[in-house]
Amino acid sequence: MLSLETYRARFGPIAVSVLALAAAAGALLVLLPEEWQRIIVAAVAWAAGLAIAIYLARRATAREQARVAELETAEARHRALLDGLPLVTWMTAPGNRAETLYVSPGIADLSGYSPAEWAEQPDLHERLLHPDDKERVLHELEQAGDTPTSIDYRLLARDGRAVWVREDSATVRDLSGEPVYVQTFLRDIGDLKRGEDRRELLEVAEREAASESAERRSRLDLLRRVGGDIASSAELDGALGRVADLVVVDLADWCVIDVVDESNELRRVAAARGALIKPNGARSPADDPEAEVRAVFESGRTRILPNLDERSTGTRVPFLDNLDARSVISVPLQARKQQLGVLTLARTEQGPAYSADEVAFAEDLASRLALALDRARLYREVEERSDAAWVLEHVADGVLLLDRNGLVRLWNPAAEAITFIPAGDVVGKAAADTIPGWKASVETVPVSASPNPGHDEVLIPIETSRGERWIAISGVRFFGGTVYAFRDLTDTRRLEEIKADFIATASHELRTPLAAVYGAAQTLLRHDFALDETGRERFVSLIADESERLGRIVNEILLANQLDAGRLDLESEPFDAHDLVERVVEATRMHAPPSVTLDVEPSNNLSPVAADADKVRQVVVNLVENAIKYSPDGGRVEVGVEEQDSSIRFHVRDQGLGVAPEDQERIFEKFYRADPQMVRGVGGTGLGLYICKELIDRMGGRIWVEPNGDQGSNFVFDLPTAEVMAHGEPRRPRLQLGN
Ligand code: ADP
Repeated sequence: MLSLETYRARFGPIAVSVLALAAAAGALLVLLPEEWQRIIVAAVAWAAGLAIAIYLARRATAREQARVAELETAEARHRALLDGLPLVTWMTAPGNRAETLYVSPGIADLSGYSPAEWAEQPDLHERLLHPDDKERVLHELEQAGDTPTSIDYRLLARDGRAVWVREDSATVRDLSGEPVYVQTFLRDIGDLKRGEDRRELLEVAEREAASESAERRSRLDLLRRVGGDIASSAELDGALGRVADLVVVDLADWCVIDVVDESNELRRVAAARGALIKPNGARSPADDPEAEVRAVFESGRTRILPNLDERSTGTRVPFLDNLDARSVISVPLQARKQQLGVLTLARTEQGPAYSADEVAFAEDLASRLALALDRARLYREVEERSDAAWVLEHVADGVLLLDRNGLVRLWNPAAEAITFIPAGDVVGKAAADTIPGWKASVETVPVSASPNPGHDEVLIPIETSRGERWIAISGVRFFGGTVYAFRDLTDTRRLEEIKADFIATASHELRTPLAAVYGAAQTLLRHDFALDETGRERFVSLIADESERLGRIVNEILLANQLDAGRLDLESEPFDAHDLVERVVEATRMHAPPSVTLDVEPSNNLSPVAADADKVRQVVVNLVENAIKYSPDGGRVEVGVEEQDSSIRFHVRDQGLGVAPEDQERIFEKFYRADPQMVRGVGGTGLGLYICKELIDRMGGRIWVEPNGDQGSNFVFDLPTAEVMAHGEPRRPRLQLGN
């Protein structure tokens, strides 16, 4: 094929050759002399000219053909290129879209109409515009005029599909700027649109999911806080109030919580108002649960107003009396099959009725609330129980809990201490079998129906491993059995008995000398004339002796009282113990019965004792007189003093009745007498040894009794020496019990 450059390159030599040929022929015609020669030259020139002309004509034709072929090839390529593009090429006459100049075959795939149909039907494009887009597209095209435009719209394909296309059109102009045609590209942007739509949908879904998840999160948060708040709160009502406040944030205009109290009454504990609701005195829920709320509580079933399958009519639903509620959810609070209360949510403002979702959430919330309530209650119960257990553990009274079958359910440490029966031996067993004496006494124990103060109690004896104990006991019956509380009154009772004995003994002790004095005095009065001097003296000395005995008893009582009241002053001066003992024995010997021998054991160089000599004498007199008194069959009484490390030890030994081991400690108690009934015929007040012990204790010494070998007893007491007293190291007052 000839290119424009080759063509230009060859045109030059041809023109030069033709001009040279013409110049040569012209010159020959002028120069040749012969006519025939000139004719030949002219003929040759003509022939050459002709040949050149033919050659040139042929060449021009060939060139034209080549150009046309080139054009056709170019156009074919162009078409192939256009047709191969993933879009439809549509050429229309400038200013008239109805006149299709060319449309690529792709239009058939796009619209279902062939290129021929497009060419034949001028209004086809306009007809195929989607009704929703038509107006917009036509308007935009009109606005654009012949400036390049890009519009997205839908075409209705032959099969009814709406095909999204993007149209890009531009006017093609010739060199002079005249419009030649309008070239429009139609591109199927269905996929793009679908992608966009999907993206939009996805975005919407994502937004919805995000808001839903935020809502869920806030509700989960609410659920979590509900549980936490109640569980951690000691004050339940306040915690429920806070829960109600949380609920009204986005779930209700009003949240009301009713809970059963300890007396099993449904009580309103919280009513919270949403922030949007204006405070208005009249418009707030009642202070007590309404009949509808009670009905939910009793039925144990959720109530939803209006029903889920009904749409809210915006009218008032009658539930919470004082509120114009438009939608209500009332959910029972249940845990471990127990009804604990009711949670009620109400919407009073215009808006949607509660949805199934919200009902489910309210139920979830209610179950959390119920669990938390239940847990709080259990916790309180456990705390109360542990408090009670703690009290039972430490109370000084014995507590015995018997169930309806008479089995011991509780036996506290005080009960163990009083009865010496370990809990393990009685708990779970019948009281009658395990508590000695119970069976015989239980009938007499007063049992009341309520733990009112001031009810009766009785004193009953219980046999224990350490002897009989007397307990004051009373019981209170309750639904699970009977609880008995008892105190150990053994010592009190013993004291009572001792006091009673003392009164009996003292009156006997007082009456005997009184009677003797009275008798002697009467005799002297009436029979004075009949009595000789000796007889009279006998009666007078009898009166003196008995009066002295009376005086001694009264003194003992007074002294014991003084000791009790702490009103006894003691002197402390050094004295010789041996000397004191000898004097006492000498004085006592005078009136001692002949069957008793009184001896003082010798002792050498004793350190002086620092104490109240009068009181020590009183103690020694008492011990020596006891030794004589409790030796009814006579015997030897030995009194002695000896020096110990830092004290002087006194002892009075006899061969009398002796003291039983169990009494060795007790005979020093006030009023205690080992033989109160005077079976052995020896009387007394039970005060003597008590006074001795008190005095010795107060003088920084100690006193005790021990057996005197096989027969009788040995009363011993220590007192600090004057030296020890002076150096301030007195022996600590301490009661030494018999060994
Ligand atoms: P009282 O002699 O007036 O009864 P005491 O306090 O002096 O009172 O003695 C208390 C009890 O100790 C006496 O009742 C007696 O049982 C016992 N008792 C005291 N001294 C002796 C003794 N030397 N031998 C045997 N028993 C004694």
